Amino acid sequence: MPKFFNKLSTQFVFSFALTASTLVIFVLGLVAFLILDRTQKLQNELTASFSETYLNDSEAILKSNLRYINLRLFNPIYEFDISLLNDELYQLKGWLKPKSILITDLTGTIITDGTEANRNYGKSIVIPEPLKDKQSYLTHNDQGQRVIFAKIGIEHKPVGYIRIVFSQEKDQILVARLQDDVNSSITKFHQALIIVGAIGLFVILIVSVLLGVKARKSFSKPIAEMTKAAKEFAAGNLNYQIPAKVQARNEVDQLSASLKQMANDISIAKNQIQQQAHFDHLTGLPNRFLSMDRLKQSIDEAKRKDEIIAVMFFDLDDFKKVNDTLGHDVGDKLLIEVANRLIQVTRLGDTVGRLGGDEFIILLADLPSMIEAQLIAEKLLEQFRSPLPIENRELLLTTSIGVALYPNDGEDPQTILQNADTAMYRAKELGRNTYSFFTKELNEKVTRRLNIEEQLHNALKKHELEIYYQPIVSLKNDKITGAEALLRWNSSEFGQVSPEEFIPIAEQLGVINEIGHFVLSHSFSQAKYWQENYLSEFTLSVNLSPLQFRSMELVNNIQGLLQKHQLKNSTINLEITEGTLITGYSHVEEALQELCDMKLNIYMDDFGTGYSSLSYLRNYPFTALKIDKSFISDITDDPSDLGLVRATIAMAHSFQMKVVAEGIETQQQLEMLKAMKCDYGQGYYFSCPVPRKEFEKLIRDQTT
Ligand code: C2E
Ligand code: MG
Ligand code: MG
Repeated sequence: MPKFFNKLSTQFVFSFALTASTLVIFVLGLVAFLILDRTQKLQNELTASFSETYLNDSEAILKSNLRYINLRLFNPIYEFDISLLNDELYQLKGWLKPKSILITDLTGTIITDGTEANRNYGKSIVIPEPLKDKQSYLTHNDQGQRVIFAKIGIEHKPVGYIRIVFSQEKDQILVARLQDDVNSSITKFHQALIIVGAIGLFVILIVSVLLGVKARKSFSKPIAEMTKAAKEFAAGNLNYQIPAKVQARNEVDQLSASLKQMANDISIAKNQIQQQAHFDHLTGLPNRFLSMDRLKQSIDEAKRKDEIIAVMFFDLDDFKKVNDTLGHDVGDKLLIEVANRLIQVTRLGDTVGRLGGDEFIILLADLPSMIEAQLIAEKLLEQFRSPLPIENRELLLTTSIGVALYPNDGEDPQTILQNADTAMYRAKELGRNTYSFFTKELNEKVTRRLNIEEQLHNALKKHELEIYYQPIVSLKNDKITGAEALLRWNSSEFGQVSPEEFIPIAEQLGVINEIGHFVLSHSFSQAKYWQENYLSEFTLSVNLSPLQFRSMELVNNIQGLLQKHQLKNSTINLEITEGTLITGYSHVEEALQELCDMKLNIYMDDFGTGYSSLSYLRNYPFTALKIDKSFISDITDDPSDLGLVRATIAMAHSFQMKVVAEGIETQQQLEMLKAMKCDYGQGYYFSCPVPRKEFEKLIRDQTT
């Protein structure tokens, strides 16, 4: 089938024309058949009636003339005057033009046949029976010729008979002529019928084609256009314009209008989804998904053009504090302001995206060199040196930036971003408000960290964790009064791993509660044993991670363990860092208060390294401060450290708090601390953290 037949419009036009034509042909055919049939019958009837009329007429004429013939023939027959008879017959022949004429006597014997030779003389013919009662009788012979018999003479006294045979030819010629006339009229009628039929057919064809074209214009074509539009919409081209005019006059136009409306609605919804899926609703910046997509595109381009890309992981320092103290509304406004500043610093083709929270990403494509990235990082830090105006406030924020480069630090978006993140953490470690590039060492550190994460999960089950004890000594009498429980991990994979390395990882992995419980449970049991056997006033110091305070169970757990081991609450020191106090969880404060109410001692560990906010000391029920070893190590050389330590001791005492000096390594340090009336000391000078058996030996030696 030709291709154009596949079109609905063409099919429609053709089927319409075909149906209409078939119908017309059928009707015309039927009419023609009926007319032909009728005319045929008419023709036969006409011919028959004509020939009959003709014969009747000629018979009537003959009959009306028989009297005259009778008169003329009577005497010659009566007198048997054959020559006179022949003369009369000769005239009759000229007048009637018959085929033959015979005169018989009453017996049927031929008197004359009108010819000179008269060869039929004396022969007999049969006189038909009906003639006896009639004057004349018309019949047909074998050849279909008309034969007239008539009596000559007075009705009941005939003298003879006359037989006239008429030739059939004359009739036939007349009938044939008549038939010809009828036939030619009928043929003309048939021709007229065909012409009318053809014209009708042609008109119907034209009309149906015109109707088809009209239908194509107002129905098939718009539908074809809408079908095309629907395909375009489905293919995502929602801007495709339907050419059909839309006035919503008929159903097709309404359908077209609905289709346009639908495409428009989809387009709006798509844009909204696009916006929501790809852009951060707060800052309007590309979100993580779009940022990563752009990074991928930049990498692909950089690969082709052999270019350098820098990915900056940008994190606000202490943004959480802003949220906690000033509320989320201010936090949100701050993030918007930060986004604006980042856009100002970056170049036109660069991408600034928000990864979530206070984390942003900056993609610097087509960098001439690494130095360029460094310059932009410095510019970014510089940008945040001036305060951000938020709600009539001027907020000063610092930022930490990690930089990773393509292709040096990774060849795929995930790796580069991960490495920029690592570099950002390094910047935080370096003291914040700075930037750090991802390096090989950093990479090794990250790899080790990942391995540690993997191993740490099973450390407890594999019994690789052990508690060491470091003596805490009273500086009044140099006697061990207690010990700090310090966790050790002897990993089958890495050997000894420092708690400074694995505790933060345990916190992040969420296994710190489990580990913390292990330390509390074992050290409590150990403390009880030592109290009972060596040092009844033995005090145990245990470190608690800020993360342990997030568990509502902490207080109950400690209470349960104290009861289980029958420990006097006042012999337990719980060491917390400032990190615990700035978590922002309200129940931390309650937990601390409850622990304090239970008469447990709360120690502020690593004092001096964090914010050392004096308000903490006023607001929280600390029993003692532990001055960080970083201050103690320099008191002999650095007068300012010495001043700080002296002031801290004095301040603590004024708050009725005891002071423990960490990290005492030399006699000189010890002497100075004693002179400053520091209460307790802890450090390698006395003993390193040691396994429980060794520690036991230390207190056993002291008691004996
Ligand atoms: P920290 O609580 O401040 O513990 C004191 C740290 O100083 C210990 O390090 C100890 O070995 C070290 N130290 C003691 N005397 C000296 C000295 O004279 N010189 C020097 N240079 N260092 C000294 P360690 O055992 O490596 O523990 C490090 C940190 O890990 C601890 O600091 C504590 O914050 C954390 N930690 C240890 N065990 C636990 C635990 O069971 N739970 C929790 N949450 N944290 C723990
Ligand atoms: Mg401690
Ligand atoms: Mg400490």
